[in-house]
Amino acid sequence: MIPFNKPFLTGKETAYIEQAVSSGMISGNGMFTKQCQHFFETKYHIKKALLTTSCTDALEMCAILLNIKEGDEVIIPSYTFVSTANAFVLRGAKIVFADSKSEHPNIDETKIEALITPKTKAIVVVHYAGFACEMDTIMAIAKKHSLFVVEDAAQAIESYYKGKALGSIGHLATFSFHETKNIISGEGGLLAINDEQFIERSEIIWEKGTNRSAFFRGEINKYGWVDIGSSFLPSEIIAAFLWAQLETIDDIQAKRKLIWNQYASQLQPLEDKGFIKLPKHPEYSTNNAHMFYVLCRNYDERTQLISFLIAKEIKAVFHYLSLHKSVFYHSKHDGRMLPMTDSYADRLLRLPLFYELDLKDVSYIANQIKAFYEH
Ligand SMILES: *Cc1c(COP(=O)(O)O)cnc(C)c1O
Repeated sequence: MIPFNKPFLTGKETAYIEQAVSSGMISGNGMFTKQCQHFFETKYHIKKALLTTSCTDALEMCAILLNIKEGDEVIIPSYTFVSTANAFVLRGAKIVFADSKSEHPNIDETKIEALITPKTKAIVVVHYAGFACEMDTIMAIAKKHSLFVVEDAAQAIESYYKGKALGSIGHLATFSFHETKNIISGEGGLLAINDEQFIERSEIIWEKGTNRSAFFRGEINKYGWVDIGSSFLPSEIIAAFLWAQLETIDDIQAKRKLIWNQYASQLQPLEDKGFIKLPKHPEYSTNNAHMFYVLCRNYDERTQLISFLIAKEIKAVFHYLSLHKSVFYHSKHDGRMLPMTDSYADRLLRLPLFYELDLKDVSYIANQIKAFYEH
């Protein structure tokens, strides 16, 4: 069976973990943590980066930093992972779900302004498949209405909007290193702070509500409880693993792009014949080859294609279910129809894409999809 995903190990992970362990410093915020954070700050021009135990945790930190409270409204695409919304629901926010674009699952920036009310506090955008949202427009809307923008860049490492790294544009942004992403640490994430007003408090929230980070830098002579917070920082063991991956990012990205491009060129004839749609990234976005998906014509066809591929020993998987229709949120949703979200929930199918996937297997997968449509 060709799996959907297989976590890639560069080979240096265990050596770095041994180094962290033998250094005697295995709690958080040590040398490897600082190296990983520095990597994001310098390469992607992020003002302050903090490693977290997951992207979910980084999103929860965003909700705390933005002082989200009962009754606040946050605009979020419905076609996303639950954590994007859940982090804000935990602080009492009402989620106002936005629809996706017709040409791409990203939030439709032209529909955002109509959702803003006096209670709106923030817009959370998701760079789906690593393709950028229309950030100039979204930042301008936020500025006009004094709102904050959070980029859920979980899938978007090493992708750019008009030359700017995704995760460096919103007031805050979050990354994921879950084993399904391009760069992994098993579980893991990062909070990017691009608006300086949040830097000092972010370290406090990260350190269980204490000013311990400032203490260790010698800026204050004792530390204590100064705010709310939690245990958001990962151990050095996780950071050591992550460092091995970050060091190898160019190689990882090059291989993923090869796979992506081969899928695209081999499946193009099926799009030309009107059977499927292929992912199209807007001209303002790069492609970080996080995901290769196809859009089937309808739900039943996708179900048949999944079964057909399973019979050919290929594991292809669908993705998000509309959050506005979820068991937890449908009764809280304001009832608006979100047709594009539903359409992606029904029609999108992700194909295997991982570092060790052989190009011969990519060819085999593409040929099986052709066989399905040509029968
Ligand atoms: C993976 C993912 C998350 C969650 O990341 P974790 O690190 O597993 O918490 C959140 N949002 C999006 C868009 C994701 O793809």
